[in-house]
Amino acid sequence: MQDLARLRLDGDLLTPAHPDYDTARRPVDPAHQETRPLAVARCRSTADVAAVLAYARDTGARTTPRGGGHCFAGRSTTDGIVLDLAALDTVAVADGTAKIGAGARLAHVYTALHARGRTLPAGCGATVGIAGLTLGGGIGLLGRVHGLTSDRLAGARVVLADGRIADCDADREPDLFWALRGAGGGQFGVVVSLVFDTVPEPVATRFVLRWRRPSHADLVAAWQEWAPDAPDEITADLALGEDAVLFGAALLDEPATRELLQGFCDAVGAAPETDVQGGMPFHRLKRSFEDLDTPGGAIQRSRSAFFAHPLQPSTIAALTASLTGGRRLNFTAMGGAYNRVPAAATAFAHRGERFMLQLVAPTADPWLDEAWAAAYGDSSKRVYPNFPDPLLTDWATAYHGRNLDRLRAVKHAYDPDRCFSFPQSL
Ligand SMILES: Cc1cc2nc3c(=O)[nH]c(=O)nc-3n(C[C@H](O)[C@H](O)[C@H](O)COP(=O)(O)OP(=O)(O)OC[C@H]3O[C@@H](n4cnc5c(N)ncnc54)[C@H](O)[C@@H]3O)c2cc1C
Repeated sequence: MQDLARLRLDGDLLTPAHPDYDTARRPVDPAHQETRPLAVARCRSTADVAAVLAYARDTGARTTPRGGGHCFAGRSTTDGIVLDLAALDTVAVADGTAKIGAGARLAHVYTALHARGRTLPAGCGATVGIAGLTLGGGIGLLGRVHGLTSDRLAGARVVLADGRIADCDADREPDLFWALRGAGGGQFGVVVSLVFDTVPEPVATRFVLRWRRPSHADLVAAWQEWAPDAPDEITADLALGEDAVLFGAALLDEPATRELLQGFCDAVGAAPETDVQGGMPFHRLKRSFEDLDTPGGAIQRSRSAFFAHPLQPSTIAALTASLTGGRRLNFTAMGGAYNRVPAAATAFAHRGERFMLQLVAPTADPWLDEAWAAAYGDSSKRVYPNFPDPLLTDWATAYHGRNLDRLRAVKHAYDPDRCFSFPQSL
């Protein structure tokens, strides 16, 4: 296309002839690695981002920002220009406030914050990007105490479609700041840095309980009554495949954590293999869960939903009947601080949910859609914007709930020409 050579950047512009292009063009998910962008702009500065957006305005080229490159729906790749922000990854902490470059990945963020005795409630995937995570919410093991990652966002710098650089926070561009907290990435502009109110890094108790030949139905029935109502200080998520694993963290000492877990095991009526370790600094605990969080390279697909009420027994039976061949159910406990923020206070609309269920299966397995349909019937018909699902027909209300109209107005104000668009964008 049109004269890419005139695009001058502080970073590199990788076109197909460049030896690094083929590696740089691919997002993480193998399902979205076929797309061949016109170019990958390895941005080193805010000016680089602005230059690519100016080029896009002049030429009509599509652009999309990429942080960690993990989007389930492949939204951080394009046949136009990928804005690869990986080089913008500085983390500066002063007085508990962290200014973090939009290209930083979670492992780097946790390590840098740990050095200052701080942390953030955020996810486990080491290479997940802080920007993508935050813009869609950010669910993690500290969330029931401290809320979403986006609930700790205090401000952001954004390059808008018209080239303007907007610093937004509660006082400046408050509608943009509201919209950045939970609507999902890539909708309003390119975020180049984020400012967070961090929390003190806690010492926690880590636990993994494993049932080798479980009654999946009994586990789900007991978990959905217990985990969302457990004290905020314990987050216990349930992963079911052929085995069943209850894993998580408690901001409690080891004896108190064991006592809570014993109550759950009694309700299940089956004893697991138990690994409970108290006194663990939170960054070490996070690192220890990276393997549990990262699928083992197979091409998989997932679908999900939020639930404000327990699953019906017949739904549990349908979901758990055939968990073989790489099929998995991942239950994430919500409640606690997630639900103490009013649904209209930020763009993240899902503030009355008890849990999230993610179903995962090999790409060609028809079980996924059948099982998801069974589960969705019992759900709130709400879906986490960071787990985008291209097959959703009711996606606008599923992602945004009652915040949809305000989000559409913010989109119109900040990106009237829909420079940032993708299937299911606002
Ligand atoms: C292994 C794994 C573990 C995960 N664990 C968790 C978890 O524990 N908790 C949780 O809540 N979620 C989790 N997720 C989901 C994760 O939050 C989303 O996939 C998230 O969108 C990834 O962000 P990213 O920057 O890595 O991805 P990207 O694909 O780079 O970005 C995601 C979206 O945000 C946009 N975007 C990226 N950077 C910017 C920017 N600077 N400005 C504007 N838009 C931008 C992209 O264009 C894209 O639309 C996990 C995902 C994976 C694959």
